[in-house]
Amino acid sequence: MQMLKCPVCNSILKLNISYSGCDWDTKAGKGSGYGWEVSLDCINSKCASLFTIGHVRNINDFVGLKDELKSVQ
Ligand SMILES: [Zn+2]
Repeated sequence: MQMLKCPVCNSILKLNISYSGCDWDTKAGKGSGYGWEVSLDCINSKCASLFTIGHVRNINDFVGLKDELKSVQ
């Protein structure tokens, strides 16, 4: 299986969804409620690169693929 790797240090990237509340960073704009940030985070703590993909309104609005189809940890 192909896994996405960090372009900086070549470690595996992990999908992360965390609440930032920064809906003003999205195209939908301030007050839109898109406060959950979806990102790919490098698992190497010395590198700690973080690649934000976008935001969702509720954590339950996002569902990952089945394990065998996933390209990130
Ligand atoms: Zn890295």
